[in-house]
Amino acid sequence: MQFSDLHAQYRALQQEIDENIRRVLEHGKYIMGPEVGELEEKLAAYVGRKHCITCANGTDALSLVLMAWGIGPGDAVFVPSFTFMSTAEVVSLAGAEPVFVDVEEDTFNMDPESLLEAIARVDREGRLRKRAVIPVDLFGLPADYRRILPIAEAHGLKVLEDGAQGFGGTLDGKTACAFGDASTTSFFPAKPLGCYGDGGAVFTDDDTLAGLLQSIRIHGKGSEKYDNVRVGLNSRLDTLQAAILQPKLAAFSAYELAARQKWAEAYSERLSGAVKTPAVPEGFSSSWAQYTLLLESHAKRESLKAALAAAGVPSMVYYPRPLHRQTVYLPLGYEAGSLPVSERLAERVLSLPMHPYLTEETVEAVCAAVLKNL
Ligand SMILES: *Cc1c(COP(=O)(O)O)cnc(C)c1O
Repeated sequence: MQFSDLHAQYRALQQEIDENIRRVLEHGKYIMGPEVGELEEKLAAYVGRKHCITCANGTDALSLVLMAWGIGPGDAVFVPSFTFMSTAEVVSLAGAEPVFVDVEEDTFNMDPESLLEAIARVDREGRLRKRAVIPVDLFGLPADYRRILPIAEAHGLKVLEDGAQGFGGTLDGKTACAFGDASTTSFFPAKPLGCYGDGGAVFTDDDTLAGLLQSIRIHGKGSEKYDNVRVGLNSRLDTLQAAILQPKLAAFSAYELAARQKWAEAYSERLSGAVKTPAVPEGFSSSWAQYTLLLESHAKRESLKAALAAAGVPSMVYYPRPLHRQTVYLPLGYEAGSLPVSERLAERVLSLPMHPYLTEETVEAVCAAVLKNL
């Protein structure tokens, strides 16, 4: 049994993917070939944004936006603590300070009340300028933009949606990666829409920002190739990856997303009476980057994980340590207990196998193993 079965997907799409790879090898335009622009148009249309700027990975996608906004030393950027390292790392890399915010136990996403408290703390201390907030669509569920966008507006914060896991989710009929001033996603192989290596994208409706991003992703280029007008990165999406992503995007929107939703419902139907299954609040839908249980205690999580492994069922802990308690961030002074929900989740979450090519038998076997070992 696979936790995320990329090989089953390849078998389903092999003909188109092989054909697309071959076409790139024939034309040889490996950097910024025609497939890159084609993919950007398709992605922008899917998400419902005016511009899509692809880049080398989902971490660079976040960095590109922070660079374009001129975020740097002395700036505060609010990020959830219960997320992947990139969300905070890019803030530090820009020379600014990540201000960690707690999450909601039900959705695992940024808690708007905790965001307000963090804003008040930064105001009180008066050391940092408030610049931006990076809500994360964790495990495929959009963050609570209904409540976060008005808070950001009231406090003059830019909103950068980290949709690395959210691609395909929706809130009130609007697609993930369409919220805030800019949004990003990742095409890391295990994400809902993955390529065969690293890749990422930024989305925005802002023409000026889109122009800046296009320049920054290619060494800060000006209108002439060898006139660089600002400091940038080397962060392009390979043509080969763009060619691979086109049939994958078509399959994602035609049936893969629906299949993920179907398997998530099948898990919840069988498990929700016995263990805390993921909540999807009214008006939201998830793309199920992960299907994550919340156990009653750390000991129960550890024993279930071990029993599943013994039964041949792979499971993963996303994430075992919240960012405010990572070694690198200890100097910022967040004590144990300062963001209690993030800390509790890190001890008690467990993610089950999730991908579009699951079968009834596999889901049944996973659920039986979970129910037997709670
Ligand atoms: C995967 C991920 C990223 C980074 O994406 P890469 O393509 O691996 O650089 C950023 N944020 C979150 C929440 C992620 O899950």
